[in-house]
Amino acid sequence: MSFFEDLNLPQNLLALRSQNNKTTVIEIGGVEIGKNDFIVMAGPCAVESLDSILCIASKVKECGAKILRGGAFKPRTSPYSFQGLGKKALEFLKIASKKYNLPVVTEVLAVDEIDLAIYYADMLQVGSRNMQNFPLLKALGKVKKPILLKRGLSATIMEWLYAAEYILKSGNPHVILCERGIRTFETFTRNTLDLSAVAVIKEISHLPIIVDPSHATGHYQLVPAMAKAAFASGADGLMLEVHESPHMALSDGKESLNFTHFAKLMRDLERMRALRV
Ligand code: PEP
Ligand code: MN
Repeated sequence: MSFFEDLNLPQNLLALRSQNNKTTVIEIGGVEIGKNDFIVMAGPCAVESLDSILCIASKVKECGAKILRGGAFKPRTSPYSFQGLGKKALEFLKIASKKYNLPVVTEVLAVDEIDLAIYYADMLQVGSRNMQNFPLLKALGKVKKPILLKRGLSATIMEWLYAAEYILKSGNPHVILCERGIRTFETFTRNTLDLSAVAVIKEISHLPIIVDPSHATGHYQLVPAMAKAAFASGADGLMLEVHESPHMALSDGKESLNFTHFAKLMRDLERMRALRV
């Protein structure tokens, strides 16, 4: 009996693997995720200015990233922290996207941001804090663009898959999962990266899964090792925070790679890709 059969999973969930053993391939503005490739999405935590996003987009493109990330609406723990530039950030993302031919992923926090965001972005992100925002998930089920669903800070894998199920059942089959660390007793890292979740998802779900080692670790020094571990775990890609001057970043500078570190990581991943079985 396989691990999968042993689990007594609910029957007929759209998010689970059935007889069809293949990972679903999802297209984001011409880039496919879920094939035997390893796609890197990279960019700043938050879009800070047009100059900054153009500079970052140019660098991540040059280094081989396929998708540009950048927050416009930011879910900040403190209401006094930088909340994102909103619509302006979406406009800047679109300019960078066109200039460097990079599809864009950005987060929506609320149902009333969806229409605006789909006009500018190629994929919408549900952040960790919103993983169980059921009205948002249902509304994203009506959207014609792919959804990147981050794992909740304290969500079990099954709760995460049920969150995906809300989107799928509401009519949008294009869901990509993102493991971004979960909250544990450990305090050295911002979260604890649960790479076993990648192996579990690969076993029980057909949805592609990527890993975000930036939010998972909270420290740029730890990101390359966890990015490479994510590759080895069988994930379909990565989401990385990159900033031209991390110490000046308006959010998450500590976990953001500078250009030198990002370029080195991308070279290392390229060498690992050549070995992928
Ligand atoms: C993000 O990716 O910008 C973000 C806020 O991440 P998370 O929801 O995983 O904390
Ligand atoms: Mn961030």
